[in-house]
Amino acid sequence: MSLTSPPVASLPPALEETLESILGDRYSTRPAILQQHGRGESHHTPAPPAAVAYVTSSAEVLALARACHRQQTPMIAHGAGTSVEGQLQCVQGGVAVDFSTMNRILAINPGDQDCLVEPGVTREQLNLALRDQGLFFPVDPGANATLGGMAATGASGTTTLRYGGMKANVLALEAVLADGAQIQTGSAARKSSAGYNLTELLIGSEGTLALITGLRLRLHAIPPHVTTAQVGFPSVAQAVAAVIAMLQHGLHPALLELLDSAAMAAVNQYCRTRYPEQPSLFLEFHGTLDATTEQAACAETLCRDQGSTGLQWARQEEDRRRQWHARHQAYYAALAQVPHGQGWVTDVCVPLSRLAQCIEATQADLAAAQLQVPLVGHVGDGNFHLLFSIAPDDIERRAQAEAIHQRLVERAHSLGGTCTGEHGIGLGKKAFLLQEKGATTVAVMTAIKKALDPMNLLNPGKLF
Ligand SMILES: Cc1cc2nc3c(=O)[nH]c(=O)nc-3n(C[C@H](O)[C@H](O)[C@H](O)COP(=O)(O)OP(=O)(O)OC[C@H]3O[C@@H](n4cnc5c(N)ncnc54)[C@H](O)[C@@H]3O)c2cc1C
Repeated sequence: MSLTSPPVASLPPALEETLESILGDRYSTRPAILQQHGRGESHHTPAPPAAVAYVTSSAEVLALARACHRQQTPMIAHGAGTSVEGQLQCVQGGVAVDFSTMNRILAINPGDQDCLVEPGVTREQLNLALRDQGLFFPVDPGANATLGGMAATGASGTTTLRYGGMKANVLALEAVLADGAQIQTGSAARKSSAGYNLTELLIGSEGTLALITGLRLRLHAIPPHVTTAQVGFPSVAQAVAAVIAMLQHGLHPALLELLDSAAMAAVNQYCRTRYPEQPSLFLEFHGTLDATTEQAACAETLCRDQGSTGLQWARQEEDRRRQWHARHQAYYAALAQVPHGQGWVTDVCVPLSRLAQCIEATQADLAAAQLQVPLVGHVGDGNFHLLFSIAPDDIERRAQAEAIHQRLVERAHSLGGTCTGEHGIGLGKKAFLLQEKGATTVAVMTAIKKALDPMNLLNPGKLF
């Protein structure tokens, strides 16, 4: 099932003229700018656009979409460029619509615990603005991504276990369709049964259904007390058993992350830390002092029951930051293991009861190939990643990674899981989408795409 549109190498002169008149010097065809916009953080071959449009308002996006639609020219939305599955490659040329310049926080409503933002606002920018109001936006994909990009990839991350991912935290969207029509989805109300849920349809659509021009986001109160711990286990199975026990005992960790021994070794080397190089959990509780103390004590008992070697608690902000720094540096620590290494990150998610089985079989597969590849996971959600680092000219290692990745996704499918918990499909997982959902379900998805974008102008070549 393919959706095709004619390749566009350079823009028609009439379109160039129109875009220049709309955007002035925010329209660019400089080669370095084009190169920057032809890739994300992925290992996929770059494919630059014919032009880049730095937009600053909904009105500009609307005018741009109408002009591109008239000339049947692809439009590829671009946020912070941190996606990892080849979502940004402009495989049919066209215009990269860069939203990083459309980055105003339009309103913060403490009473409703929500805010209105433009799509180029990054999550760190938003959280800085919210800090004085006692509020925060919880979705944290690790990178300082834009909120438009996070909605478009259906991002989640370290805090999803407690606060949910983008699907749970976007109340409404404003978006421009391929023909320049503008739609509003959702509302300021916390719930609604009015018609189809177009907000959730656009979340995770990877720029293939609409250009998101505004977001109403749900906010949360900054917890009065936070307790963080790091704890090692003799095996991954025991670490995962401790996670399941914590959740079954009704504990509510806000963060619950796993790093295997290879990941801990990479972190120690990169961050000059001295953590025991064994499967480890990083966990965090949010709430009142009494509640977090009680939850922490219970977690400690449950971890010891699974053979843990003692929890290292961090209660002061500086100590907490130091502990989380190790977790957040895991990707860069993995990259640093190979000179000029390029990242290749896998992303499967399985039911929690099958997680240990899936991880252990994957580690056995790596051991058989004599590879030591760091593994990290949002383990409370059953989601984990292998962090391959591959030198650009290392064809053999790339082939190994591809084969291991293929087997990993098949394993996840056989255990009732999915080929992507949070990174999306992009170019990298098109074949897996079909395997996972089946032809009939994918046909429904392509029918939706054809209804909203019959000329296949929005991020063509992705998903299907
Ligand atoms: C170190 C590292 C760690 C990561 N960890 C996680 C993680 O834990 N969880 C996770 O979910 N992801 C993770 N990612 C992946 C990445 O950060 C997310 O996919 C993020 O949501 C992408 O946002 P972005 O602003 O960079 O979007 P981009 O990469 O610029 O774009 C991503 C997609 O969104 C579309 N898009 C962008 N803006 C718009 C818009 N305004 N309207 C319509 N479509 C748009 C693009 O066309 C593209 O298809 C990680 C990446 C890195 C490098």
